[in-house]
Amino acid sequence: MASGIWVVAETRGGEIRKVTHESLSEARRLADSAGMAVTAVLLGKGVADKAAGLGAYGADKVLVADSDEFEPYLTEVHASAVAALAAGGQPAVMLMSASAQGKDLSARLSAKLKAGLSTDCTAFRMEGGKLIATRPMYAGKVVVEEKAKTDLHLATARPNVMEVAEDPSRTAAVENVSPDTGTKWTEVVEVLADQSGKVDLTEASIIVSGGRGMKDSANYKILEELAEVLGATVGASRSAVDAGWRPHSDQVGQTGKVVSPNLYIACGISGAIQHLAGMSSSKVIVAINKDPDAPIHAKADYSVVDDLFQVVPALTEEFKKVLN
Ligand code: FAD
Repeated sequence: MASGIWVVAETRGGEIRKVTHESLSEARRLADSAGMAVTAVLLGKGVADKAAGLGAYGADKVLVADSDEFEPYLTEVHASAVAALAAGGQPAVMLMSASAQGKDLSARLSAKLKAGLSTDCTAFRMEGGKLIATRPMYAGKVVVEEKAKTDLHLATARPNVMEVAEDPSRTAAVENVSPDTGTKWTEVVEVLADQSGKVDLTEASIIVSGGRGMKDSANYKILEELAEVLGATVGASRSAVDAGWRPHSDQVGQTGKVVSPNLYIACGISGAIQHLAGMSSSKVIVAINKDPDAPIHAKADYSVVDDLFQVVPALTEEFKKVLN
């Protein structure tokens, strides 16, 4: 009989990513409400000494496999290993992040384990020992609750939505494992890492985003300056990306990244449904748009109806005074 909540940890370069702390904290809350235990699966290279520390975020037990073959991430290797462990452990719920890696892994695992999968969830609760997953659909037009028909329910949590709860006094029991990693069909030849050093949009706590209203790529300098003062990451609408002003990795929305920062400042963005699909779960939304009828104002917590070329530099100056 399936029982317990598992979290598949995400690692890069031997470090555990914040999204894992979010998933674990949420797993702890769910497990406490349902009288279950939380197990973390930690696959990576040079991660063994980090395993017990996952207890601080809610893990009761950590299954750790520290091996060269888990770095860099490779779909079939990770999926085979997690599937092999799940077959032995029979979890009822398995959480991952809706990050690029989590989306990739969860889909493969769902097929391998023949388990229901809820993607990009924004809330969870337990009911009668089963997970109820809440997620937006159709570019955010509806919100649905899903329950898996299978014994195991896989789910990915939208990054930055689940609150991290840390209790440094807790440690987890650690079990070293060597799961079967199956056949390796591919090999990573080279990793071309982003050299910009900026925080990825999906993990940023503040985003300053620009749209067609920016009028030219050079004008993004004023957004970069505001972002620098706030410790923010710069994003863009699809129009700005299509115009070649920003790289696609900056695009927020249905066909870009889904973000949930604490603060999203939309500059010269109209608020099309496809853009809202990517940012409407932001905690606080500020719209700077000179058109009072732009749809973004209806979604915003704070609206500035004015010329962004006046407002953004003025904001930067004011924040400098307050934050320096
Ligand atoms: P516009 O709609 O042209 O808005 C520009 C805004 O700037 C206007 O509201 C204007 O009032 C304001 N403005 C102009 N000058 C100033 C100024 N000086 N000061 C203040 N305000 C000013 N879009 C996305 O963003 N992300 C997606 O992932 C995405 N996916 C899509 C997928 C599909 C299948 C389709 C069909 C569309 C998708 N789109 C996406 C496109 C989307 O429909 C809109 O076309 C796009 O979001 C509009 O971008 P924008 O708001 O920057 O431009």
